[in-house]
Amino acid sequence: MYPSRFSYEAPRSLSEAIALLHDGGDDAKVLAGGQSLVPLMKLRFASPELVVDINNIPGLDYHRQDADGTLRIGALCRHAQLERSDILAGSHPTMTAAAPVIADPIVRNRGTLVGSLCHADPQGDWASVVTALGGHVVAQGPGGSRTIAMADFVSGPFQNALAHDEIAVEAVIPAPGGQRSGGYLKLERRVGDFATVGVAVAVETSGGTVSKAGIALTGVGGATINAAEAASALVGAPLSAETIERAADLAAQASRPRTDHRGSAEYKRHMVRTFVVRILSPSLNGGASANGNSERAA
Ligand SMILES: Cc1cc2nc3c(=O)[nH]c(=O)nc-3n(C[C@H](O)[C@H](O)[C@H](O)COP(=O)(O)OP(=O)(O)OC[C@H]3O[C@@H](n4cnc5c(N)ncnc54)[C@H](O)[C@@H]3O)c2cc1C
Repeated sequence: MYPSRFSYEAPRSLSEAIALLHDGGDDAKVLAGGQSLVPLMKLRFASPELVVDINNIPGLDYHRQDADGTLRIGALCRHAQLERSDILAGSHPTMTAAAPVIADPIVRNRGTLVGSLCHADPQGDWASVVTALGGHVVAQGPGGSRTIAMADFVSGPFQNALAHDEIAVEAVIPAPGGQRSGGYLKLERRVGDFATVGVAVAVETSGGTVSKAGIALTGVGGATINAAEAASALVGAPLSAETIERAADLAAQASRPRTDHRGSAEYKRHMVRTFVVRILSPSLNGGASANGNSERAA
């Protein structure tokens, strides 16, 4: 199917793009990688009257680490850049585990992490990863910029906290306060598929004690699930088989899966539990965590 008729603008500055969005009201949409928006338009699930393509705006295609270890990912940083990143390798186990299992190589070449966060698909992998890492989104609008914690950014299925005239300019992952471990595991029916179940875990350890933890779930609820209670069960003690089991139980309880053609709710809840244990168990006794990848289910 062809999309409905729409106007197309490709501004060369952020201020121009914001002005176009402001004037376009609710009928205007940002286009980044187009890997979610274009299919939705072709199916006529989305029919914006104005598409504001941000790909000609210079200086948004970065990902970089500040001197203190804060990671910044610009609005036009593609999934593939993160998959091949030397910056992430070795120091960002949750992100390096997720990057290669987002969609397929074609989608990864165009799609962006920030676009994925904005799209707020309950099956989007990056929203769970950034939530588990305690990240935030920097939004810029006519009145200036503001910071939105990732846990507040996804407001529902395919809904985010941006105003209609705001652009998400970057995602930020705070610097670690200790040694980082964790990973991302995704159950998918075949390579390139959306997650049947995805689990992101990020843990920081100082002096053998877990100082910070995040767990977030993909595809097992109406939106990305921040399993904060499960993560809290890990904090304040050394990682142990008992704390991992407790966190895994709480994460499974936080999930809200539905039975469908991919599996029963019970099976998906079981996979949440299994993935939490599987990601964290290799970190016991100070070992590096299995940062994971994907598994296929029939
Ligand atoms: C075949 C296929 C398989 C896929 N599989 C997966 C998968 O396994 N896992 C997964 O996580 N994703 C998957 N995706 C989605 C893919 O990751 C998209 O790239 C991503 O969801 C959106 O990023 P984008 O840059 O393409 O955004 P776009 O499609 O350009 O935009 C998506 C939405 O976000 C808004 N938006 C984008 N950028 C901004 C911004 N900077 N500020 C404000 N609003 C913005 C747009 O207006 C639009 O509403 C798949 C897509 C396809 C086509």
